[in-house]
Amino acid sequence: MAGVRRVLRMAEGEVIILPSTGTGGWEAAITNTLSPGDTVLAARFGMFSHRWIDMCQRHGLTVQVIETPWGQGAPLAAIAAALRADTGHRIKAVLATHNETATGVRSDIAGLRAAMADHPALLLVDGVSSIGSMPFDMAGWGVDIAVAGSQKGFMLPAGLAILGVSPKAIAAMDRATLPRCFFDFRDMLRTCAAGSYPYTPAVGLIAGLARSIEMLEDEGLDAVYARHARLAEGVRRAVAAWGMTPCAVSPDLYSDTVTAVVVPAGCNGTDLVQLAASRYGVAFGVGLGEVAGKVFRIGHLGMLTDVMVLSGLACAEMCMADLGWQVRLGSGVAAAQAFYRGGTHAVQAAA
Ligand code: PLP
Repeated sequence: MAGVRRVLRMAEGEVIILPSTGTGGWEAAITNTLSPGDTVLAARFGMFSHRWIDMCQRHGLTVQVIETPWGQGAPLAAIAAALRADTGHRIKAVLATHNETATGVRSDIAGLRAAMADHPALLLVDGVSSIGSMPFDMAGWGVDIAVAGSQKGFMLPAGLAILGVSPKAIAAMDRATLPRCFFDFRDMLRTCAAGSYPYTPAVGLIAGLARSIEMLEDEGLDAVYARHARLAEGVRRAVAAWGMTPCAVSPDLYSDTVTAVVVPAGCNGTDLVQLAASRYGVAFGVGLGEVAGKVFRIGHLGMLTDVMVLSGLACAEMCMADLGWQVRLGSGVAAAQAFYRGGTHAVQAAA
């Protein structure tokens, strides 16, 4: 828990580790702080921001949705305007997806907090695909609940939802009346304070989490973030060499953990993903929702080196060639190699 606190950069508040996945972390965040009929504000710009909105609606919350083109991030001006207009403070929480995994878009959470000005709403942030791989500053950004999952930056199997909870969110817990039981923060805080757990803890994963944090801190969090920035830039150079573009519409939005690659007209990204899996045993991500078929996604987070990324790029090129797409074998790999050569390779050899 102390390690999670350091990774999230928490100055105060509580860490809660639930046997669940990121989706359970979302549910825990809303059910422990909100009541039926409460209004929350959220922008929809990808499948994961969409799913959190859908979950809120299914819990009987009123969601004020700001529809945003996929490929863009949290629309700060529109959020600021919505909060300014909410003079009665009907909006109880602002939901933000820090890294939209469906489109490979990073949002500016510090900017979002500034856009909230002195509005009292809670700031709930989904950091499932950013925390542990991209800079995250819960205290500095004024985040009330940060949600992470074990299977991304923490490099573990799926099975833990990892949350940082601010004192303000803890205070909201006693007023919140959305039903919860398994995810009730109160049971978790009471039992953890006594050195226990409200049910069987996921001991193996919790032990793994301690080891993951040790690995992140041995490398150094800043070095981990720099490595992900370098991995991501190499991928983007390959994408450019293929004559393609990221789905994220501008460089300030580029994710360091996943790149959604827009495929040429007449090509289907899902074909590439299926071929890579069936012929070469490599897992890329399909396009989801609005971008289904229009993109394929390259994940580049966790215990990953430059050279490992090169093999993924090589596989993507082989699939493109196999599918008859216009690609010169080696073009993207060469662009990434040129960028990675002479780089630092800070990943620790597995003990
Ligand atoms: N949020 C984001 C940004 C994600 O990328 C994911 C999963 O990929 C989730 C939430 C859902 O997490 P899980 O699949 O662990 O339930």
